Amino acid sequence: MQEPLYISWKEWNCRSDCRYYCMIRREQELRKLGLRPVKYHGKWPFIRISAFQEPVSAALSAMNLFVQFNGWLTFFFLLYYKLPLRPQTSRTYYEYTGLWHIYGFLSMNAWFWSAIFHSRDFELSEKLHCSSTVALIGYSLILTILRTFSVKNGASRVMVSAPLLAFLTTHILYLNFCELDYGLNMKVSVAMGVAQILLWGAWAFVTHHPSSFKLCTVLIGGSLGMLLDYYDFPPYKGYFDAHALWHAITIPLTFLWWSFIKDDAEFQTTTITKKMM
Ligand SMILES: [Zn+2]
Repeated sequence: MQEPLYISWKEWNCRSDCRYYCMIRREQELRKLGLRPVKYHGKWPFIRISAFQEPVSAALSAMNLFVQFNGWLTFFFLLYYKLPLRPQTSRTYYEYTGLWHIYGFLSMNAWFWSAIFHSRDFELSEKLHCSSTVALIGYSLILTILRTFSVKNGASRVMVSAPLLAFLTTHILYLNFCELDYGLNMKVSVAMGVAQILLWGAWAFVTHHPSSFKLCTVLIGGSLGMLLDYYDFPPYKGYFDAHALWHAITIPLTFLWWSFIKDDAEFQTTTITKKMM
């Protein structure tokens, strides 16, 4: 029998439904015996809401997407409508505007695919989620290096970014067309994440930036979140696991992060325009 289109689109079919109900029944039996939940195909047994496989993580990903959009939009308005622009070119005085625009786009892209992946995990959504997340982490590392070392010259920026971009492209191609190796991807992501935390931490310490408090809060929160994801407890009442908690924590952190970026833009613009007077 032909299944309705919305079911096949979401890939809820006879086989996956059967797996789901079998898992739920087994979990009920384990609970009666007083045993802890176990993972099925590497995933905790989440209770579905409608067609959503991990409803809490999916909703929190959508909220993260909104917070990222709001952060980027207020950044855009601050730079183009509130702060002064260069008289001849109408460009911003802040030298990292374009880089943060790309960051905003990659963040929104990553949270969009995270929301889709947590709604329904199938091969394509998994690959797009993995690729867009590692692309964001890799790009953030490039941006961290450029900002913390104040690399302003175009040629130097290309020289710094090219090897990292080449590595990142190879890694993403490998994940998509050779093997979706979780262990490897985790190592690459953690290494790039830790490098950024250390660089920003050292930068905040050396520069005494007026908003280093916000930056340090994000760094500490981000580090704790990474540990939480590693600790990985099973879903409370079938809904709220360590990963969902991590997605909840990133909402205030993202708010604070964009606030730091906007402070940085304002601080830099004021410094440059004061020098010109
Ligand atoms: Zn997630």
